[in-house]
Amino acid sequence: MAGLAHDGGLYMPEAWPQMAAADITSLSGSPYPQLAASVMAPFVADALSSAELSALTQQAYARFNHPVHAPLVQIADNIFVLELFHGPTLAFKDFAMQALALFMDRELQASGKRAVIIGATSGDTGAAAIEAFKGRAAIDVFIVYPHGRVSDVQRRQMTTVADENVHTLAVKGTFDDCQAIVKALFNDADFRERWRLSAVNSINWARIMAQIPYYFSAAIALGAPHRPVSFAVPTGNFGDVFAGYAAKQMGLPIERLLIATNGNDILVRTLETGRYEPKGVAATSSPSMDIQISSNFERLLFEAGDRDAARVRAQMNALKQEGAFSLSERELAAIKSTFTARRADEETVARTIRETHATTGYLSDPHTAVAIAGAQGELAAGANGPIVVLATAHPAKFPAAVERAAGVAPAAPERLRGMMNAREHFTVISNDAAAVASIIAARAGAKASSPLFSAGLAP
Ligand SMILES: *Cc1c(COP(=O)(O)O)cnc(C)c1O
Repeated sequence: MAGLAHDGGLYMPEAWPQMAAADITSLSGSPYPQLAASVMAPFVADALSSAELSALTQQAYARFNHPVHAPLVQIADNIFVLELFHGPTLAFKDFAMQALALFMDRELQASGKRAVIIGATSGDTGAAAIEAFKGRAAIDVFIVYPHGRVSDVQRRQMTTVADENVHTLAVKGTFDDCQAIVKALFNDADFRERWRLSAVNSINWARIMAQIPYYFSAAIALGAPHRPVSFAVPTGNFGDVFAGYAAKQMGLPIERLLIATNGNDILVRTLETGRYEPKGVAATSSPSMDIQISSNFERLLFEAGDRDAARVRAQMNALKQEGAFSLSERELAAIKSTFTARRADEETVARTIRETHATTGYLSDPHTAVAIAGAQGELAAGANGPIVVLATAHPAKFPAAVERAAGVAPAAPERLRGMMNAREHFTVISNDAAAVASIIAARAGAKASSPLFSAGLAP
């Protein structure tokens, strides 16, 4: 339930559960929800019975509209695309968010408590959270986004959801203002306790955990445990690629993990120089990777420094106080033994979309194209194949950029078409944390005091 530990650090498993070759082989042929339950089971231990866990993953992935959930498509001799966009909001975040919502709801129902989820979004995360948490009995979800500054598709994905526990707030300000509001509410300890505020951003361990299974399903489809594979991952906050690292630590034969970034390349620079130093963010055609700080990289630091928490704390303090920190030669070598990082600038992304479409007929979204370019770079530099590219979003989520690059518009899936005419629900509010706080108090409070929800409530 707690995204962030009380000392400001991130949760990590005490040890990596191990899957032997025979365990991996035994997953072969399992339907995705069953495979996901098997891979997550050791992290859940006895908090859930295996029957309960299976029922939860069954429910979490029931709304995906592809029979194999995460299909693999070959686009070149040694390049396979793993399509992770067949969930309700057409982006890979559905894999983790759908499961997280059910885990949280079950925990709250069991303890008779309610919680308030609050998140700031520039697009994808808000939609994934709303789709996952809508209709959950014990949870209200408040999403704040910058009024007039998200795309039509992104806004409609959030505002056309009519469930009573979903509250979409359009703030008259920028995305940074939205983040500042959420931060201010979390920093108010009384408010945070009173409403049991919870965050669902990508540093929540349960989200990372729920992203591990598709590395297994893809590698098994390509011959694991007998054949090693590499993965190229469009990277922003480092959650998705860290899930790949977790799969490797669990025993999945992964050869290399490619951190694929757009021009916001803090991780490429870090692997080149050994110095982690945020610079400004530039807007790109792959907005979900436009980050300045890559929060989950802290988890890899912990691993690379032999799990020395004091060392990570010192590095994080240096980041706060001096705006940067350095990695030791040993830490850098440990990271480079598994990870490579490559950046793709805007021209490369557009060319990759165009050429991939022209040569194979495959239309990729800009985030995915960043990783396709990275995989091509790796193979050209002599890497062993096969490389699996994680396709993190459906091209129809970013129609303008795709059409500009490829000259054809991606066909909108049924899900998007219905949405474009549905009624929207949102409240425009001033750029002010107090305004958001009073809406939370009024709306979550109204439900909290109704007799239906009276068990074990916050005051
Ligand atoms: C969130 C997101 C990413 C980045 O994933 P991280 O886990 O933050 O590295 C990449 N592509 C898309 C489409 C996303 O929504």
